[in-house]
Amino acid sequence: MILKENSKGTLIVISAPSGAGKGTIINKLLERDNKTRWLSISTTSREIRSNDIPGVTYNFVSEEEFINKIKEGYFLEYTNYAGNYYGTPKGAIEEKLNQGIDVILEIEIEGASNIKKLVPEAIFIFIMPPSLKELVRRLKLRGTDSDAKIIERFKKAYQEINEVSKYNYVVVNDILDDAVAKVEAILKSEKCRVDRIEDVYLDTKEEEIHELLCSEEFK
Ligand code: 5GP
Repeated sequence: MILKENSKGTLIVISAPSGAGKGTIINKLLERDNKTRWLSISTTSREIRSNDIPGVTYNFVSEEEFINKIKEGYFLEYTNYAGNYYGTPKGAIEEKLNQGIDVILEIEIEGASNIKKLVPEAIFIFIMPPSLKELVRRLKLRGTDSDAKIIERFKKAYQEINEVSKYNYVVVNDILDDAVAKVEAILKSEKCRVDRIEDVYLDTKEEEIHELLCSEEFK
């Protein structure tokens, strides 16, 4: 019996509290390999921030447009997070997976738990800040939020960290390169899992083996 890696891509769900650095880790993963990895671009109804690039960080729509898209069945999953809608468009995901491309979803925990129901074989990775103190430091250093907003984000982060047991893996983002290497290692190991392996030669007939043994190559 000869086994080969499954030719289909893997769905990878990455969540983290804001300030844990998941965006940076994902960018590094894509820098290393953007041929067999693809980051799904979510649709959101939140306001565009100064560091957003429409069509790259998100596809921005109004709340009304978002609700219409929900009705059309446009999303694989969606949620309302901090008063704004966020959703993963169904469209390209199946196509990419069939092409053997791994699809990354950068979504919050409720979305991740909905994906788990729909695609139980997906890989769920939670990126953790090294400590809650470090998380506060990072949120403060960003300079994008008021102290009140930081406290709100911190509380949310605290709740989210308690949900980590629902994930398959947790990666502490202390040293960025180490965290990226850990995620790479997870993705590599997952490809070797027996239940992900496709048995392509199981159907090989005895005559075919006989033919092979008689071929020039084996004389
Ligand atoms: P932000 O507004 O900071 O860009 O994102 C807020 C949260 O929404 C983050 O935790 C982010 O991962 C999550 N998020 C982004 N896109 C989606 C999505 O399509 N679905 C879900 N469920 N969460 C998302």
